[in-house]
Formats: sequence, C-alpha cells, structure tokens
Amino acid sequence: MGIIVAKFGGTSLSCAEQFCKVRDIILSDTNRRYVIPSAPGKRYSDDTKITDLLYLCHERAGLSLAFDDIFDVITGRYMDIVHGLNLDLDLEAELNNIKTRIREGASADYTASRGEYLNGLILARLLGYDFLDAADIIFFDDRGIFDSEGTNEAISRRLWDHERAVIPGFYGSMPDGEIKTFPRGGSDITGAIIARGVKADVYENWTDVSGFMMADPKIVKNPKPIRKITYRELRELAYMGAGVLHEDSIFPVKKAGIPVHIKNTNAPLEPGTIIVNEAEPVCCTGGITGVAGKKGFTVIAVEKTLMHDELGFGRRLLSIIEANGISFEHMPSGIDTISLVIADSQLDGKLEKVLDEIKDRLKPDSVEVYSNMALIATVGRGMARTPGIAAKLFTALGKEGINVRMIDQGSSEINIIVGIENEDMEEAVRAIYKAFVDEQ
Ligand code: ASP
Repeated sequence: MGIIVAKFGGTSLSCAEQFCKVRDIILSDTNRRYVIPSAPGKRYSDDTKITDLLYLCHERAGLSLAFDDIFDVITGRYMDIVHGLNLDLDLEAELNNIKTRIREGASADYTASRGEYLNGLILARLLGYDFLDAADIIFFDDRGIFDSEGTNEAISRRLWDHERAVIPGFYGSMPDGEIKTFPRGGSDITGAIIARGVKADVYENWTDVSGFMMADPKIVKNPKPIRKITYRELRELAYMGAGVLHEDSIFPVKKAGIPVHIKNTNAPLEPGTIIVNEAEPVCCTGGITGVAGKKGFTVIAVEKTLMHDELGFGRRLLSIIEANGISFEHMPSGIDTISLVIADSQLDGKLEKVLDEIKDRLKPDSVEVYSNMALIATVGRGMARTPGIAAKLFTALGKEGINVRMIDQGSSEINIIVGIENEDMEEAVRAIYKAFVDEQ
C-alpha cells in the first residue's frame, strides 16, 4: 500500500458542503492516510477567511478593545460546519478556552493557528481518523527557525502509531511550547513536511483550481492546463509571477523527490498538474510547458570600446549596483557591451545616482537607459537540445510586429527570456502561446 499525504486549502473546507466533497475524496482512496487541513477560507468572493478574523481578534485584544462580535462570527462558522455535517462534536469548551486565551494576551501566532486546529478536530471526527496536534510534531528553534531534522525525526516516530491521521496545517511549536506559525498560506508547507516525514509516494495539494495553466488566463482565453512540470520549470514560471505554490512550500518534497499533485476539490476527476523532479522533454515535439510575462523593468546598457580587454570592468559595474543596494535580474552582454536588466522597484529613486557613478568610475562611451520593459519567459524542458524553438518564438513575435529589445537564455536549458516594451507584453504572450500551443 502506498501513502498519500493530502492537503486541503481554505476554500476546500470553507463550509459543510465543501467538507463533504473533501470526505468523499479522501475515502475514495485508502492510500490517503494523512490529511492536512487549512482553516475555513472564503465561501464567496467578499467573504472573510477565519484566519483573518482571528488576526483581527488578536489586534483588538492588543488594544484592549472588545472582540466578541468577531469571535461570534468565528463561532457561528464552525457551528454551521459541525451542524451541517451532523457531527456529534462539541467545540464549545475549545472555543471558550481560545477566546479566554486571546483576551489574556495570547500571541498572534497562537490565535491564528486556532483556525487550522479547530478545522482539524472537525475533519478528524468526520473521517474517523486520529487527530494529531501539529504542535507535537512540527518544531521551531528558540529563534523561531523551522527545525527540519527534529521535525522529520518526530514525524517518522510519531506517525508510526497512527495508521490514519489529520494534522492541522500552518503551525508548530517552539522549545518552550509556544505556538509558532509559518508565513501565510503555510499549510502547504506543513503538508510538504509531513509528506517528507512519512516518505509519501505523492503529496496531493487540493485547491480550487485544476492545477497550473500554460499561460495566465487573464491574458490568454482558456489556456490549456499543464499536466506535468518539473520543479525547475516551475521555479522559472513562478519567478515570472505565474500564480503557483510558494517555493518554500515544496522544498521538503522536492528534496525528497516526492511528486506534488495539484488537484481541484470542486472537480476531482480533472487530471490537475503533477510536479516532478525529472520528466521527458516537452520541446522535442515542438511544444513548451508554459509562457509567462512580467512588466516593470529598466535596462541600463553600457558600451565601451575594448571593454572585453579591460580587466575588472564587469566587477566594477556590478559593485556600483551592489553598493546602491540594487539587485539585478539579468546581464546579457556583447563584446563591448553589458546590459543590466533591473526591476523598477529596485531602482526607485536611485537611477540618476547609479548612472553618475557608472559614468564617473567606468568612463564608458555611452550609457543608455531603456525603461518600460517587460520580460517574457518561454519555458520548456529539452528546449536547448531542440532545433527550431527560438526560430518559432521570434517568428511569432515578428509576425505581430513586436520588437525584441533583449534576449537571454543564460545557462538555463529550459527558458528563453526576451525583453520587450511593457505595452507589448499581453500581445507577446498570446503570440507565443498561439505558435506553440494552438498551432502545434
Ligand atoms: N490559514 C492560513 C492562511 O490563511 C494558512 C493557510 O491557509 O495555508 O494563511
């Protein structure tokens, strides 16, 4: 028998109806032995997440203000779930205890973590699984840094006694027993940690979308889903802002070589996206994995005759950038030119000073600044070994009259990055998608 660790996000557990879907999913495969719930999320777009309500209670308590009205809303949501599921579970004592502790000055982390804790109690009862408090197996050191090895050891030891268990996401404990949470969205991290600890065959991450799309649906109409993606490809697309899992959240499973399967609680039969370490190339058949764009970059292009003979030129250029606290994204170069591609947010208010220093210290022939640039990443494993990919990409952009200002493949074998005008970004993504997906 294999082991599946299944994490369910807030919208998957927002009300009794969603809990029923989750129960059906879990019980449909006996390998789904360890389940990680988030706190109840939004039921509709302007609803409020339980976690946000809990933070609000903490904030009010900190100002010595009453928070009963907010706490009543929280209580009401849990009661609706318990009654809607016809569960024989009395949460009153738990809720009273939590309220008292918040009033008496409990920490923000403790307060926020109760959303997952209570949802864990409900889900465990609904499934007939054991409840295991994350505070007993997920550890942080006394500086609040996650203790990966201590946790892994505790999970392997403790979960041995539990054939099936629900473990609340988002938090663990410090050596003094205080509750500590991961960053927001941290139940993804808990799921990955548990998956690593029990040596799961797969880590399922159940959410409200059927995995990742090949392009942003706000730009391309009905983009195709990505069935399979490698961690490296995901990193490239995530860097460009594609809405994907936070990198921290998959690090433990990536390290252990455990695949992550993103699935939709509301459409469980859809295949979703599977994230793996290695996979067969997509580009050998002329395809790509995805395309993403990001606006808001500036290029500083420095030119100097015989630059390539001048020892230390690149180092001195970069030291100016570094001394101004600026990090750069790309550095395409020619024989006598170096360009730095920098996010506008990094340059904010510093551009003139940086240009003066470059002119003063490097004595270049020219320094040009191109603002309003966007970057487009076309990602696909096997790209570097497939002839014709770049030709197809640039033909697609050329056909739409999009002027390419910069090209960078760097040493990455799975990504071609082009720099274009901000205003061409959407058109460029559509053109590339059309060439590699629609006309494929
Ligand atoms: N409930 C927490 C949050 O809203 C953690 C999570 O959902 O993963 O950020």
